[in-house]
Amino acid sequence: MIDLLNRFQSHFSSHILLYHSTFTEVPNDLKEGLHNVTPESLYKQVEWFKKYFDIVEIDEIFSQDNIYGKVAITFDDAYQSVFTEAIPVLKSLNVPCTIFINGVSLSGKAFWRDKIRFLINNSLIDDFLNFNSSFTQLHKITSKNFYKITKSSNINSQEIDTLLDRYLEENKISIDNFCMKDIEYLRKNPLVSYGNHTYNHYVLSSLNKNQQELEIRKNHELLEKLNIKHSKIFSIPFGGDRDLNSTTIELLKKYNYRGFLYSKNAINIKNNRISDLTLPSKERYMVNSDFNSFQKQLFKLGLKGLIKR
Ligand SMILES: [Zn+2]
Repeated sequence: MIDLLNRFQSHFSSHILLYHSTFTEVPNDLKEGLHNVTPESLYKQVEWFKKYFDIVEIDEIFSQDNIYGKVAITFDDAYQSVFTEAIPVLKSLNVPCTIFINGVSLSGKAFWRDKIRFLINNSLIDDFLNFNSSFTQLHKITSKNFYKITKSSNINSQEIDTLLDRYLEENKISIDNFCMKDIEYLRKNPLVSYGNHTYNHYVLSSLNKNQQELEIRKNHELLEKLNIKHSKIFSIPFGGDRDLNSTTIELLKKYNYRGFLYSKNAINIKNNRISDLTLPSKERYMVNSDFNSFQKQLFKLGLKGLIKR
């Protein structure tokens, strides 16, 4: 029954799927706090969408008036597992996808949110907070609010990343880089396009204008230089309303982006008409891994979309 109603969603909505890692088994250091969909689940979900929707590239959803029945597959953060596990799955189903990359991982540095996850999974939060006690007190950080508060727009992400590096260095802890390590991963594949997710994945609205521009420009230039299919759509790190500001929009226009993606757990019911002052945006949702809970999720999202219409 739910399946039948979900199929019907192609008549009134467009879905942009958001995936992160696609490990068969999530590494222990990331277990808590990582959005992971196994390759097996990915196959089932995409196979389902392929039956009832039209799977297209993200740029196509932004360029057409009628978006109903269209689905785009996106991956954020460029985990290595996406290249080794997810792309073969999508290739076997012959569907396109877009990977939004953070250039910093090519320099060998671990993704800063994985450093946060490392501390959580290794029971090191309190140790880290004690190590930076004045910072901890200033921002009222506790082990309980740690994950959430470190991605808030009120604390400069770059500052947190510096503190993380200092702590890890002082304690001689090295963290694996789970994201793309070298440009070999970005092999030319007609089904895959690449997009800008900023260089370091900091909360853009927590940065000043120069820092924001550096984050966007550095990654933009990297993508241009790599001679790969470059999506003109931008993926906002963390993807909430508070994670960007008017400076962000200004900069995205400066670098000729045609639109940007939120990740506020929603489907797209209408094609947002936009004024010249702003940029078009679309909604995404993080797909649940298990197939039954994925079907329930779709049903709820469809209902929520219809009520809001
Ligand atoms: Zn991300």
